[in-house]
Amino acid sequence: MKQQHIFTPGPSQLYPTVPAHLQQGLEDGIYSLSHRSAKAKELVKHAVSGIHELLEIPEDYHIVFLSSATEAMERIIQNTVSEKSFHLISGAFAKKFAMIATELGKKTEKFDVSLHKKLSVKDIVVSQDAELICITQNETSNGWACPVGVISTLHKKYPKKFIAVDIVSSAPYVPLDMTHIDMAFFSVQKGFGLPAGLGVLIISPRAYEKSLQLQKENQIIGSYHNFPSLVENMQSYQTPETPNMLGIYLLRNVVADMLKQGRKTIQEQTDTKAALLYAALEKHKILNPFVQEKAVRSATVVVAHGGDMADLHEHFKQREITVGKGYGANKDDHIRIANFPTHTLADMQLLIESL
Ligand SMILES: *Cc1c(COP(=O)(O)O)cnc(C)c1O
Repeated sequence: MKQQHIFTPGPSQLYPTVPAHLQQGLEDGIYSLSHRSAKAKELVKHAVSGIHELLEIPEDYHIVFLSSATEAMERIIQNTVSEKSFHLISGAFAKKFAMIATELGKKTEKFDVSLHKKLSVKDIVVSQDAELICITQNETSNGWACPVGVISTLHKKYPKKFIAVDIVSSAPYVPLDMTHIDMAFFSVQKGFGLPAGLGVLIISPRAYEKSLQLQKENQIIGSYHNFPSLVENMQSYQTPETPNMLGIYLLRNVVADMLKQGRKTIQEQTDTKAALLYAALEKHKILNPFVQEKAVRSATVVVAHGGDMADLHEHFKQREITVGKGYGANKDDHIRIANFPTHTLADMQLLIESL
């Protein structure tokens, strides 16, 4: 089989070291390990400390494992919102977050961002009674990205409110200042290049406190996966249920690989590849970047439109390249191209030449 180049935004191309780690895990008996054993706890501990270091998360923030990013949205609403959440609506994933809040019986307030204009904190007004601000930092559905400075400024404007940030398709690239954020989450099949089925949630001490307070008030914060249960189990590097040890083991190893490479290098390479790709799209006779305003363009999920996408997919297929279709209603008129750490400069150059 010829080498495949998979640029779909998720699941995406596996990180290059994954096959070797998978095999090593088999040889070391990781997939039959009791999750209450010392060896499993050691793995979980190492995974968590690696994530802390790679994403520059303050020491006193908690990291817990869930089944997916979608689950993280539900847990965040249950554990930190009593009445009302606020949502920056940038596309399908932001809408899903807001929908989950509605389904859990919360009131929601929404602010629609303009995909083609700069985003100014001045325009964002959050009402007094909204407890949590939800932001999809990198909107995988359309290639819009929230500048990290906007998030810090929003925190300074509303220091008492909690801020939750979806970094599913921008981690580990996105240089978020975690001190301005209470919760951030991702699943592993995007920027980490792993098989799907594992979600990671980062929780600030005060968000944890809020969940304890809601619990004391007898509000429903969920059962085995509520924050108190997750955090207490993690104090001894355990999980409330039998966890996805395969996923945790692979994540721990890929995070260690990324630490060796250095996050700064990953960020620089991502910026370089994104600049090349956007430049190629701007020069292109038929295709154009979908997001017109450069300040809110994603570096990690590049969306383009124009032309007959069926032809384009066929053209790529002959070159062993796969790009993502548009999301939802834009299935046939957009393409989405992932620019993750697994995608090398050579991969990106190949894609650009084939455009
Ligand atoms: C993929 C994605 C999700 C959902 O991730 P799951 O692992 O399928 O739950 C949420 N938000 C964003 C921005 C995504 O790209």
